[in-house]
Amino acid sequence: MAKMVVDVLINSALQWVTRPLTYEVPLSLQAEIGVGARVLVPLGKGNAEGIVTGFPGEASWENLKPVREVLDKGFLPPSLIELLFWMSEYYLCLPGEVLPLVLPPLVKGRRISWRWTGGGEGEREGLVLISPLAVEVAAYLARRGEVSERQLRRRWPAGELMPVLRELEERGLAVRLRSFPGRNQGPAGGFPGGVGDFAGVGDEGPGGPAIVLNPAQRAAVELITSALEGEGGGFLLHGITGSGKTEVYVRSIAATLERKRGAIVLVPEHSLIPQMAERLRHAFGDRVVIVHGELAPGERTANWFKIRGGEAMVVVGTRSALFVPMANPGLIVVDEEHATTYKHEATPRYDAREVALKRGQLERAVVVFGTATPSTEAYFLARRGQLKLVELKERVAGSAPPRISVIDMREEFRSGHCGHFSRELQREISSALERGEQVILFLNRRGYAPHVVCRFCGYVPACHQCAVGLTYHADGRLRCHYCGLERPWQKVCPRCGGSLALLGMGTQRVEAEVRACFPGARILRADGDTTGSPRRWAEIYHQFACGKADILIGTQTIAKGMDFEGVTLVGVVNADLSLFFPDFRARERTFQLLMQVAGRAGRRARPGKVVIQTFNPQDPAIVFAARQDYGGFYRTEIAARRFLRYPPFVKLARLGLMGPYEGEVISAAHALARVLQEEATGVEVLGPAPAAIARIKGEYRWQLTLKAPSWLQIKRGLDKGLACYRMPAGVRLIKEMGPVTMW
Ligand code: ADP
Ligand code: ZN
Repeated sequence: MAKMVVDVLINSALQWVTRPLTYEVPLSLQAEIGVGARVLVPLGKGNAEGIVTGFPGEASWENLKPVREVLDKGFLPPSLIELLFWMSEYYLCLPGEVLPLVLPPLVKGRRISWRWTGGGEGEREGLVLISPLAVEVAAYLARRGEVSERQLRRRWPAGELMPVLRELEERGLAVRLRSFPGRNQGPAGGFPGGVGDFAGVGDEGPGGPAIVLNPAQRAAVELITSALEGEGGGFLLHGITGSGKTEVYVRSIAATLERKRGAIVLVPEHSLIPQMAERLRHAFGDRVVIVHGELAPGERTANWFKIRGGEAMVVVGTRSALFVPMANPGLIVVDEEHATTYKHEATPRYDAREVALKRGQLERAVVVFGTATPSTEAYFLARRGQLKLVELKERVAGSAPPRISVIDMREEFRSGHCGHFSRELQREISSALERGEQVILFLNRRGYAPHVVCRFCGYVPACHQCAVGLTYHADGRLRCHYCGLERPWQKVCPRCGGSLALLGMGTQRVEAEVRACFPGARILRADGDTTGSPRRWAEIYHQFACGKADILIGTQTIAKGMDFEGVTLVGVVNADLSLFFPDFRARERTFQLLMQVAGRAGRRARPGKVVIQTFNPQDPAIVFAARQDYGGFYRTEIAARRFLRYPPFVKLARLGLMGPYEGEVISAAHALARVLQEEATGVEVLGPAPAAIARIKGEYRWQLTLKAPSWLQIKRGLDKGLACYRMPAGVRLIKEMGPVTMW
């Protein structure tokens, strides 16, 4: 019989095993082993666990070590392995850096076990030389095969036991394993092909009177369903807030389940999960599971196995939910597609929207991007036919779009009115309160006063670790919003003895001023300081939703997807905050934010009113948001992107150089820039320049931006350049394809 070899990606924290290693498969395991199997292989002096990633082609393999054991033959669907390698290639990272995304989390203590991998008594005798305890433990392990670490710790004191176990591991006699419930019980019949019993949800689905879809919704569901029947494909579901997109998802999921395939629904942040999960549970009961990074590891692992086993067919979660081991996903929904949180800001620096399209393609699934304000890139794809554009143009239940007024704060100022609230906003707040209706006030900045400055000498208290000024908080402390450093505030300037002034406005100051103006009103505040945990935010959300407060003040947390029935007025205290960021997407973000915020007003029978305060009323972001005109904004924006050569017309990549010594970082950045300018043909090298925040937590940060017509050109140029350049030891290099936020 021919020799069989496999590539195994080791699951290990060791940096050097970030690419697959090749092993020989003994005859006895050849029938069992396949791509996605979890196996035990020798590594160094001991053993390690890994995932089979492929069968390398013809070559003369010599002296390969054998796979020891197949631990779980259908551990991961092969399509996930393919996705993993695609990601490592596309996002310029190593396969081993992507692997953790597709594995269930490591459960500490409880699920660690030790397995005997040594030989017979002869081998054990040598252990006498270590200690009598070693012989005892080895005999115990050899007899039982595998024992949980917990159980071992009950028999022997940990202090004596652990060194013995490590010694056995060193000698290749025992191996430490993460063990999971349902081991060796991959889905019946293996991948692909789900199992389970699916009652579809039709028009008369469980849970109360059925909603009758309007014609636009019906058309959307029909298009998605027919793509499910065929090859899959990508859709952009462009519908204003309240146009019934979620209902379209629900019906499309039902159609997916009827075809015995699963569905994955992504939302941009934790705070949006409960709402979506509730709607889906209502329709699909306990076939729905939640997946996100902040669940306890035990629960995440349990859900992971439920999904793999086909018990859970509908997954709701944040971007990491994209990597669940679902055997045969038919539908992937990316809700609020425009959200920047779909970009992962640590290695692997992937964009869940791109990965969703890729997974969809591998699984022949339908991918639906839903949003009221598509990212310019997504809309561009739709215009070119690479995504199918489906539009929902009307709000369901016929509620009218909100009336929007833009207040020119320069005019207010000129007419002698210098407060933070324009006269119109104050008037509207009072009358909403009089009618017993609710108000949302939005300001994208937390704290009390973002600028503290000495009026006499210009001194600004700054963070000593980060290149930013400190924000004054209402509790009398100054805080750094990058590293969390805090210190007490004093009114006296430490440099000249003058007095420090608190300038600008954060949500706490809005709260204080609103309390002063409307003493009777019940006020809640939702920002990073009050909603630290998902549970805290759920409480605030619930209180406001059931009418226990009149005014909700908040940052972007409240701008997304929230559906409050009683709100008829939304005030944007300062629309300009995000407009002047040094980022080519700043205008798009501002527009999206204003559109989302406006969508919170008057979602039901009562008409809504939106007041936008700005010093730049002529900016396209504000003009088109006020007209609720997505198309108009897109045309302006895409023209600017074409003219300035920004995505989607080019690909961007960013290289970050970071380190504790400024001089070293700067000279490395210049040297790397020179190398790339020479080696990377067809790639425009911009910079080096300090990052937007030039120092964070004591680390200096510089960057280079690469621009080229295609991904391949960047990749090739970068490979060539980095091959000729040696980074100094004190400087860290971060590579990012398709950056979406500033560093
Ligand atoms: P979106 O996701 O676009 O904001 P939703 O799907 O949440 O919109 O719909 C808004 C509200 O209208 C929800 O309460 C939903 O139950 C309801 N709804 C959706 N479609 C219909 C319909 N065809 N008829 C009546 N009500 C509907
Ligand atoms: Zn700091």
